[in-house]
Amino acid sequence: MKLSDLMAYGKSSLEKADKESPLFDSMCILEQASGLNKTNIYLNADKDIDKSVECCFKANIHRRAKGEPLQYILESWDFMGMNFLVGPGVLIPRPETEILVELAVSKIRQRKEETVVFDLCAGTGCIGISVAKLCANANVYLVEKSPEALEYLTKNNNCFQLENTTIIQGDIFEGFHAFKLPQPDIVLSNPPYIPTEEIESLQTEVTFEPREALDGGCNGLDFYRAINELWSPYMNTQGMLAVECGESQATKISELFSNVNNRVSTVSDYNKIKRVVLMENGR
Ligand code: GLN
Repeated sequence: MKLSDLMAYGKSSLEKADKESPLFDSMCILEQASGLNKTNIYLNADKDIDKSVECCFKANIHRRAKGEPLQYILESWDFMGMNFLVGPGVLIPRPETEILVELAVSKIRQRKEETVVFDLCAGTGCIGISVAKLCANANVYLVEKSPEALEYLTKNNNCFQLENTTIIQGDIFEGFHAFKLPQPDIVLSNPPYIPTEEIESLQTEVTFEPREALDGGCNGLDFYRAINELWSPYMNTQGMLAVECGESQATKISELFSNVNNRVSTVSDYNKIKRVVLMENGR
């Protein structure tokens, strides 16, 4: 078969399976199977390819047609312009999470002095590792409970060869005192926030992701309560907590975080959904 035949096969298979971006997905899967980039695929469209490339390509198109996320098939995904390893067992980094990272980075850069940052429920480590990479003055502790996610976290951390990150396996419901950690200046988290009863109705792709990275309890707020009660009281006096949240959760989370000694605000994403809740100590 020629490269152009494979492209046509991939596109039509994914169209039949009703996938959103058949052309884009086929191209990514063909790049991976052939080891060629997009330009070289077009330039060599009429060339016959190895049977092994064809088999690998078709097998992966089949996985995609069945609903497996493209990111799991490609085994890595871009976040903040950096490449993170992903796969079954860990949440795929989402573009909206970059807002949380950008807020944290601008705060840490203003501070100049060494800043202790926690990334709670770190998953791939996309939040904490990006912050550590972009801010030399950050000292980032990444906490993750799941052994499967921890494997990706460790591999990603090793890939970036950072000296300002520390990985900790643990359950954030045990609270700050269960871990031997310095007092944080900044606490970041994109915790599981889907209400349990909504999990079953999620898009097929999302059901491939680990349930424990999605399920936020009966109204999706369990992790925010734990962070508020068991972590944020131990932040330094000028500390900042920033969490990502789901659609229509920001108001409830803001109420949860508000007290007489802090300032709570929200930041919206590109779809005008309040996506990040910020809590800054001191008035
Ligand atoms: N912090 C990781 C991310 O944002 C994982 C989050 C999670 O498992 N809920 O991708």
